[in-house]
Amino acid sequence: MEKDTVEHLIKSLSERNIQGYYFESFNEAKLEIMKMISKHESVGIGNSVTLKRMELSNDLISRGNNVYDKTLAKNKEEIKEIKRKALLTDWYITGTNAISLEGHIVNMDHSGNRVAAMLYGPNNVVVVIGSNKITKTLDEAVYRVRNIASPKNAKRAGMNPPCVDLQKCIDCKSPDRVCNNLVVIEGQNESRRMKVFIVNEEEGF
Ligand code: SF4
Repeated sequence: MEKDTVEHLIKSLSERNIQGYYFESFNEAKLEIMKMISKHESVGIGNSVTLKRMELSNDLISRGNNVYDKTLAKNKEEIKEIKRKALLTDWYITGTNAISLEGHIVNMDHSGNRVAAMLYGPNNVVVVIGSNKITKTLDEAVYRVRNIASPKNAKRAGMNPPCVDLQKCIDCKSPDRVCNNLVVIEGQNESRRMKVFIVNEEEGF
């Protein structure tokens, strides 16, 4: 990742009351997250390929944190309960579907629990992004979310809307549609609430 790109993104985020930080690797980013969060604090985890590969939930649980990660639930009822409890945690850690160089954080959610927690509830939010999530503009970020992230996430969730075969969005009305909540975070009211960890590796959709 070019130094100019990182500096541009961190400046754009700062103008939106969001703190941006740069890391060479996901492992470095994870170590910083583990350092920032005390073992007495509760943590909600957004469903994310990036965070899964970082094994963040396992590490937090091992040292005693109370972690709400729906991917560790045993059944549908537990999934629902975890999604609700993760809305009132001390920390919420999540990936994102795209971020523009102008600092727009763009996500598409199926049920909306992840974007709900990003918007309001948890006291602190950390958004972890690989370099593959960065686009030049908001339009490109939305394009990425619809045509790259959503088809892959639909497949990962075992859904079969038309984009899984077509590898592009046709704005379907399929019962398997995963695109119910398109959310653009433009900024933060509280200046220390949201942090974006920009990682110089590619991961996730
Ligand atoms: S609206 Fe439908 S076709 Fe478009 S990305 Fe979402 S699920 Fe796929």
